[in-house]
Amino acid sequence: MATSGTKTNLKIIVLGAANAGKTSLMKRYCTSRFSPARKATIGADFMTKTITLNDEDVVLQIWDTAGSERFHQNSVGNMFYRGAHGAMLVYDVTSAASMTQLVKWRDEIVDVLGSTDLPVVVVANKIDLRSESSPDNAEVVAWCTDNYYGHIETSAKDDIGVAAAMNAIASLAIEALRSNAEKMPQNSVGSRTASFRDTSRDTLTLENRYEKPKSSACC
Ligand code: GDP
Ligand code: MG
Repeated sequence: MATSGTKTNLKIIVLGAANAGKTSLMKRYCTSRFSPARKATIGADFMTKTITLNDEDVVLQIWDTAGSERFHQNSVGNMFYRGAHGAMLVYDVTSAASMTQLVKWRDEIVDVLGSTDLPVVVVANKIDLRSESSPDNAEVVAWCTDNYYGHIETSAKDDIGVAAAMNAIASLAIEALRSNAEKMPQNSVGSRTASFRDTSRDTLTLENRYEKPKSSACC
């Protein structure tokens, strides 16, 4: 059940390549701080923030994770995905490898949850670092359009787009919850029925177009 009193509780999971800025985005949003120091995230952790969306109090529980391994088969993975209302898929606009990995993360969500129903917003982070030599993200944008995923550009460092990205996923998650509540008998608000297109045929092909990245540190 996602509603307690007058507040709606939403669990948002943040996924993406190591170093893309997942932890930084969560911290920027929840604590208004940014740290340039790189600190590995171990396992899964969450922070909360209460916002008002369409005159409604919403408690966002934002779950952050180490992004380098598939861990859904263990207990940390179960805890991470269980009851999620929406997902943020984060990539780094300066890293082609992080773009390629988006498909892997989307597939993992579908794999673990057994459906394509979870609302997704793709976040293009580190736009403050974007330059002429940054990889083209046109394929990512097209992939998002094809799959009905939002696509929002952010800088956790300069606090650009972070609140917009969180608001976007929160709005989609609430919409999915509401539409689900309408379709389900009372007391069954738990499962989701928002429909997304069958995504199994959509793949990014960036892998073939860019040089293999130098190995990145594990997060
Ligand atoms: P995670 O592995 O996805 O959790 O990534 P982190 O949040 O730990 O960030 C990895 C590194 O990128 C850290 O050194 C951050 O300070 C840096 N970083 C994160 N977001 C941004 C951003 O928007 N701009 C810049 N310039 N650096 C960022
Ligand atoms: Mg992290």
